[in-house]
Amino acid sequence: MERRNTIQRALVGEAVKGLDHPDAEEVFEAVAASHPHISKATVYRNLNLLAEEGAIGRVRLCAGADRFDSRTQPHYHMRCRACGKVFDAPLPPIAPEAMLGDTGGFAVEGHILEFTGLCAGCKKS
Ligand SMILES: [Zn+2]
Ligand SMILES: [Zn+2]
Repeated sequence: MERRNTIQRALVGEAVKGLDHPDAEEVFEAVAASHPHISKATVYRNLNLLAEEGAIGRVRLCAGADRFDSRTQPHYHMRCRACGKVFDAPLPPIAPEAMLGDTGGFAVEGHILEFTGLCAGCKKS
């Protein structure tokens, strides 16, 4: 059982590395293509475990399902409003928390920054 779990987790991790910011459904489809007996619940559970362990990144977007990321260092994303594709943004991590004024007692724990627009492919067509 333990060995099976390890294999399943490795399969899911490899699928994320082979895809570009996939959502859980895309990871499931990629794994199921070569392992048709794996269940969606198993893939989703392993995605959550890998993200909690920090082995993969979880990208929370302002719209749509969470994406998963083989890049685990902090970085920002650009989301195409036409095709929904997500790209790494060429911006080093910033700390806007330091620019905040009086929050009135609100304890800030983090921030979400997402760039939206049209990707190069969608801009052309
Ligand atoms: Zn696009
Ligand atoms: Zn990314």
